[in-house]
Amino acid sequence: MTQLNKNYIAGDWLAGQGEITNINPSDLSDVVGQFAQADSSQLDKAIEAAQAAQAEWAAYGLERKQAVLMAIGTEMMERAEELGTLLSREEGKPLAEGKGEVYRAGQFFTYYAAEVLRQLGQNAQSVRPGVDIDIRREPVGTVAIISPWNFPTATASWKIAPALAYGNAVVWKPANATPASAHALTEIIARQDIPKGLFNLVMGSGGDIGQKLVEHKGINAISFTGSVPVGRGIAQAAVGNFTKLQLEMGSKNALAVMDNADLDLAVAVALGGAFGGTGQKCTASARLVVHEGVHDAFVEKLVKGAEAMKVGHALEEGTQIGPVVSEQQLNENLAWVAKGRSEGAELACGGAQVERATKGFYMTPGVFLGTTNQMEINREELFAPLTAVIKVGSYDEALHTVNDTRFGLTAGIVTRSLARANHFRTNARAGCVMVNLPTAGTDYHVPFGGRGESSYGPREQGATASEFYTIVKTSYIAAGEPE
Ligand code: NDP
Repeated sequence: MTQLNKNYIAGDWLAGQGEITNINPSDLSDVVGQFAQADSSQLDKAIEAAQAAQAEWAAYGLERKQAVLMAIGTEMMERAEELGTLLSREEGKPLAEGKGEVYRAGQFFTYYAAEVLRQLGQNAQSVRPGVDIDIRREPVGTVAIISPWNFPTATASWKIAPALAYGNAVVWKPANATPASAHALTEIIARQDIPKGLFNLVMGSGGDIGQKLVEHKGINAISFTGSVPVGRGIAQAAVGNFTKLQLEMGSKNALAVMDNADLDLAVAVALGGAFGGTGQKCTASARLVVHEGVHDAFVEKLVKGAEAMKVGHALEEGTQIGPVVSEQQLNENLAWVAKGRSEGAELACGGAQVERATKGFYMTPGVFLGTTNQMEINREELFAPLTAVIKVGSYDEALHTVNDTRFGLTAGIVTRSLARANHFRTNARAGCVMVNLPTAGTDYHVPFGGRGESSYGPREQGATASEFYTIVKTSYIAAGEPE
């Protein structure tokens, strides 16, 4: 019988109200494992334990807290090969990306280990004589973390690491599509020198345990990454309880390719940005806004490059694009291909389901040509190995097109002109701007987030994360005269 992977609640590993079977999207005959689903009484127990443990954790000495974060990060980096293999097996991204993600996740912990020691306050003189003012940040309390399947380890880590570093307790609900990575990370955290109940893993479906978590009055802050509709629902639940909120949602990122671009660079940047992670990235280059001066030459190289990309089993040597995460996602992707065609876009290559040696959710990378920015395929986030070329006549039109979206996570430009790059950096309405780089791919020590429907609330990552994971206290001190 397959071993059941349990929830981690109040310091104990517990079975739940049922279980799910996790299947490898590269090989449907490969069962990754059985995972328990938490019930509502377990959720209550987790939150109660977290509240009690939080004060104890916040009172730990700085170096003791730092050592915990350092140990988690170091172990993840050391085990990147093993945990990356597990991640790729359950999510479907090529092994190099899986390993890279786990290593990067470890870096979030080691980075925030250092941030534990870097928490400085401010002081000020009062307008009242004899009074001093001390301004410092305190932990926000118990944080609910809800993470998606596309970066199951990294996204969770860039939330969990700062939550702990700034003295909070955590209740984590990972995506049910990728519970193995969540369980593996929890197993590392559970072995550390932390108070019982400080860190809790509650696995289960979003509509059930996720919804109960975000509605719970015992939660002080919610950090969520996922889709816009779910984010909107979470916002409504949070407002009811005045719970602090941070949402990272979808996007429709554009990469502008200018007539003075290095075309080989532009194609490499576009292919990496569009098809890395099988296109299932909130930072994916979904719209390629190309100047008419280089359009034909760029498109020829792009299509050739996309056709040459190897689609296959995530763990197979040489695979560049793994399967999509699920049958539902594959069906939605294929429906988008049909939708694009019905809107008048030309599918230059790919966009088709394909078979490999093992049964899985394989799809070739698709490039749409002749699209307009008004087509639905260019308005909605597809989360698929699909990208669309939009031809423009000038830089101004390119910039306008890039900004003409209700999202605004990342935006990129490929150009040899410093002046253009600088103008773009200043005027692109996005949280992150990339010059001569793919729209996907960010660092861990600087802020990450977007505008419009892409993000809501304080930025994630870097020292800026303290805005979300702490609450400011202003103290007025009249010390009086010495006795
Ligand atoms: P969802 O927004 O449905 O899921 C994200 C997380 O939220 C998961 O852990 C999910 O749990 C949970 N969740 C779902 N419903 C609720 C709820 N009512 N209350 C609390 N938590 C909930 O995204 P999907 O994973 O289903 O992907 C759908 C689309 O979302 C993608 O196609 C893409 O467009 C977008 N997306 C964007 C991401 C980004 O990085 N910006 C990441 C992932 C998705 P569970 O999965 O277990 O149901």
